This record gives sequence, C-alpha cells and structure tokens, in this order.
Amino acid sequence: MDNAIEEIKNRLNIVEVIGSYIKLSKTGANFRAVCPFHSEKKPSFFVSPARQIWHCFGCAKGGDIFGFVREIEGVEFGDALKILAQKAGVELKPISQELKTERNRLYEICEWAARFFEKQLEESNAGKEAKKYLLGRGMSEDSIKNWRVGYAPDVWQGLSDFLASAGYKKEEIEKAGLGLTSERGSFYDRFRGRIIFPVFDLNSQVVGFGGRVFKEKDKTEIAKYVNTPNTLLYDKSRVLYGLNGAKLDIRKKDACVLVEGYTDVIMLSQAGFQNVVATSGTALTPFQLKILKRYSENILTAFDMDVAGDSATKRGIGLAQTMGFNIKVLLMPENSDPADIIAKNPSDWEKISENAKSILSFYFDTTFSRQDSKSPEGKKAISKVLLPVIKRIPNSIERSFWVQELARKIGVKEEAVTEELKKVKLSEDALGLEPEEIVNLPSKSRKELLEERLTALILRSPENFNLLSKDDLELFSPQISQVIGCFQKNKSLDKLNTRALATGKDEPLGSLPPELVGLANYLSLKSEIEEEEIDAEAEFKDCLREFRCLEIKNKLEKISKDIKSAEDEKKLGELGKLIQEFNDCSKTLNDFENII
Ligand SMILES: [Zn+2]
Repeated sequence: MDNAIEEIKNRLNIVEVIGSYIKLSKTGANFRAVCPFHSEKKPSFFVSPARQIWHCFGCAKGGDIFGFVREIEGVEFGDALKILAQKAGVELKPISQELKTERNRLYEICEWAARFFEKQLEESNAGKEAKKYLLGRGMSEDSIKNWRVGYAPDVWQGLSDFLASAGYKKEEIEKAGLGLTSERGSFYDRFRGRIIFPVFDLNSQVVGFGGRVFKEKDKTEIAKYVNTPNTLLYDKSRVLYGLNGAKLDIRKKDACVLVEGYTDVIMLSQAGFQNVVATSGTALTPFQLKILKRYSENILTAFDMDVAGDSATKRGIGLAQTMGFNIKVLLMPENSDPADIIAKNPSDWEKISENAKSILSFYFDTTFSRQDSKSPEGKKAISKVLLPVIKRIPNSIERSFWVQELARKIGVKEEAVTEELKKVKLSEDALGLEPEEIVNLPSKSRKELLEERLTALILRSPENFNLLSKDDLELFSPQISQVIGCFQKNKSLDKLNTRALATGKDEPLGSLPPELVGLANYLSLKSEIEEEEIDAEAEFKDCLREFRCLEIKNKLEKISKDIKSAEDEKKLGELGKLIQEFNDCSKTLNDFENII
C-alpha cells in the first residue's frame, strides 16, 4: 500500500490535481486560489509544488493530494486513493478473498440487487408498466438509466432467490436490509411490487433502496414508502440522496437545494438543476448538515415549511440555522412538489429560484399574515413563533436587526423583545450538541500565532535567529523549537519536503521526525507567502517583544493568584517573597514595553 501511495505521489503533480478542481493562479514559487473549503473573497489558499502540499491560511486546512481529494470529494482515504490511483494510472492490488470484509460483501449484494431491479423494470411485464408510469410522469429514459431506477416484482422470493443463486447467505441478505424472516421462519423480500430507487453513498456505490408504490389502488392499501433499514452501509440519518452526483455542483454554485423526494432530485437534475439533494425521509440531522457544510453553507429548501408547529422539519431547519447555514425558502404553489413543476414547465422552476426568500423574511411574512399584530394575544403569538428563529441567528448584527424589526412591527420597545429573547430555550440545546459541532473553525492562541510568525520570519531571514536569547527559545513549544533547530542546522528549508522525507534520500531531514514534517512544510510555506516588502528584522523584533511580554503577563497573573492564596492562608513569609517577585516582573514588563 505504501508503495502505491508513493507511486501515485511521484506520478501526479499537486498543481494539476488541485487545478482540475479549482482555479489556481501563480504567485512566486507557489499557486494561490480562493479557498474551496470556507467562504472568502481574498484568496488565502496556497499550493506549493516544491513541497507538494496545500494549505489555507484562512481556515487552517491543509495537507497533501490525498487530503485534498478527501476533503473536496468528501470521501474517506480509501476512496481518495482509488480516485488518485486512477488519475495516476497506478493499479491497486486487489484485496484477497479472505480479506474481504463484511462490508464488501454487503456492497456486492446491494450492487447485484440494483442490477436485478433494473433488469426487472426493463424486461418484466409489471416492470414495463412501472416504467410507463415513470415516463408518464415526465422522467426521461436517460434519467431512469442514470439514477438506476428499477422495479421489485410483486413476489415473496424474487430478489432473495436471485441473490441466493449468486452465492449469498440469507443472513447476509438480511444484513443488507433486503430480506426478512417471518415469525414462522420463512424468508422473504423486503421490497415487493414497487418502483425502486437505489440510494448511493458519496462514492456512487449503492448502499440502500427506497421503494415506492405507483398503482392507484396500492396507494391507499399498503405503505406508500418502504426504505432500507439502517445497516452497516446505510444510515438514514447520514445519507443525503443525490449528493454523490450533486456535490461538485453544490460547491460550484455555492448553494444546495434541499427537496423531500427522490423523484424531485431526479426531475430537477434532468432539467439541469444539479445541486439538489433529498433527505431520506428524515428531518435534517447534525450529521447530514456537517457533510453538507463541506460543500456549501447556503441551503434553499423546497418543501413544506410549517411555521407554527414544532415539527421535525422545523427543528432540522433550526439546527441548520444554528450551525451557521444561510437558509432561503423556495415558495412553491400549493400542493405541488418540484417534480410536478419540472414536468409541467422547467422554466417555472427558475422563477421560483429567483424569488427565494430568506428564512427570516419567510417566517416573518407567514407569521404576520396569520396573526393579528394589533391585539395583545396576536403580538404574543407572533413573538412565540419568531423569537426562537431570531435567537438562532449566530451573527449578532443580523440578530439585532431582526429584533428591531420585530419590535417595530408589533409596536413595542426593542428592550421588551430583547428581554423575552433571553428567556427563549432552543430545542437543539436538548439534542446535546457539543459547542464545537456548532462553531467549527479552529482558533489559535495569540502565543501560538506569535510562535508561528517568529518561526516564519526566521525561515525568511535566518539571521533573525541570533536575536533570540536562550530564555526565548525555552518559551517555544517543543515541536516548533525542533523545527527551528532542524532549520538552523541545515540553513535551508528548501530541501524540506515530504517527498524527500518519504524516500529518505534527503539527508538533512534525518533530524526531523516524520510527524513534524507537516508543521515544517506549513511554516516554510507561510514564510514564502508573506508580502515581499516587509522589513523582516523589524517585524521579528516587534513579534519577539510581544511574545516576551505575553509570557511575563502570564507569569504576573500566576503570581497574583499565588499572592491571593498566600493571603487567604496567612503565609506571611511567602507573601513577602511573592510580592517582591511580582514587582520584579512588573518592572521587566515595563522595560520591555518601553523598548522600541
Ligand atoms: Zn480555507
């Protein structure tokens, strides 16, 4: 495996790989771009061909080609490896039969099942009837083929017999969610007499199925929807239908349209609107939102939004709001879904998209149209619906705007609204979401930032190193001082790159442990992308002064605490010593701060 990774890295150039996804422009020895992983206007995403790494100085993401493909395609390492192996023309050795995991077997079963259903739709009589129904609803032959729509025959053991003959055990078929054992012990197919929509993972492998009835009489007599239960491969709280095909388009358009049904996704995509996904019969979950966030923070919803109730849909949207998504609502004519609209006239959809309303405006308009904003009861009812929605807005300026708006429209003082807003408890508090799931940018401490800046300035002008005292060096984190040490020894970080390290050909790197190569690469890239004209020495002195002051301030804080506890415990001898120490420190701080 390591050989394959090395081989792929040797054959591919990071600039070409990343350049096939986003537009790069050359700047000095490196390339830069607007980061595809966070929203920004000024490009802070850099690619270094010399080191074969990328790094975003805005959101702190970075790594090698594998990391980039994982991040942009939203796939696991194994899948990134497959994608890049194909690009590089490197053949990955097949995994031996014994090593095939349970997962692999389940993937195979799902793939066979999808083929079985597709064939049934094309060839069986009932299947042809189902296909006629789909075509009649406006779905094209191409869409049926691309989305691999199929038909499950109306028999008890159609698929399961087929899979058994292909060598799969009943237990495996059951684990894939395709068969069930009755109370009497007989084994039967889960999907019978239904149109089948395979559900794909991010890598376009079939992981589950959704079955829909289509005959009029069935619609009233049996369950309209049957879906794969949660299996090793399929977790409905994580899957978003259509994301495998939509992800790059979502990123390109920086917006994701959320619909309810599978047919909505297919019909919209057929009409050229590809940035569309459907939840699999659940309200939006934190998992789905986290996945979506990799691609865009803008959501357009195209489903029934009940404003007043406390439905799962509303909670999901609330959660998205809390997680910092910008949400707009597509206003559709009553009793119609996107699939109907597209079937009738695709250009209607464009009009609907153009008239999307922000979630706040939508909630405001709907709520005010339903309540009497003049009566005290009406005012109370309105605020009961709108306050939680306002409370979820992460940006305080935007939040304060809507507070003012609400106060103005119901004719009360802003303070009264602010007061009530404090009392509102949000439902996602009860979901037990960790704060870091809501805010996800890593933040570095001032000390860490200064450390990095100082190191980058040393890399840029090595003579800066001589300005550091022995005490200063002790203040650096062990990792960073190791990188500085290595650099001092070699006087050139140009030779520092992961490729050289991995092959072990480049001697100077011998002194740097592999886990620090990433940090060294990041810091040297940082030193390269700095503006050309700065006075590296003056800049270094400024940073060093702040770095030293920060340390003394921390020390002072600690001494103050010790003084406080010495006073509490009446340790007078110690107290005198501490006060002396405090005064010395303050004097040093004063001296430092006055040096220019
Ligand atoms: Zn970024």
